[in-house]
Amino acid sequence: MSVRELITVPDEVLRKISDPIGSIGLNEKKLIKDLYNTMYHNNGIGLAAVQIGILKRIIVLDVSKADEEKKPMCFVNPSIKRISTKTTTYEEGCLSIPNTFIEIERPKNCLVEYIDEYGMKKELECDGLLATCIQHEINHLDGKLIIDFLSKIKKDLLIKKLSKQKNLNRVIV
Ligand code: ZN
Repeated sequence: MSVRELITVPDEVLRKISDPIGSIGLNEKKLIKDLYNTMYHNNGIGLAAVQIGILKRIIVLDVSKADEEKKPMCFVNPSIKRISTKTTTYEEGCLSIPNTFIEIERPKNCLVEYIDEYGMKKELECDGLLATCIQHEINHLDGKLIIDFLSKIKKDLLIKKLSKQKNLNRVIV
């Protein structure tokens, strides 16, 4: 079990499409534990395997409130089967895009089909924050980021700014 390093923009790995998992073995179980550790360590509420550089269709979430008991959830090969026409808007942040929040409108409800960490096929009706979060993470598995919801001009400016931030923190000794 370990906390893994987060991949951040503009790393091209984040743009790759993750591969489906055939079966859940020891490697996948270890990866799921690492994803949970890395997510909790960084105070995130969701994390996709690609964000630690592993191109596998696995995501973890925990949308419980700070004063509630932790509620870890793991989705392997998740796919959205149905979405509502009703939408909801959240200001979304991303562990791969530091210090950036973007207002995004998404379907308020969605039905997700997935395999759980024990290999069981399941379905879950998601609503509100959980629905937003799971759609955000499934976007990661398809190489899509929250900055893609911006216009091209805004997106280019933001990437430029983020790239500069990275340079500022870089030390070569
Ligand atoms: Zn994200």
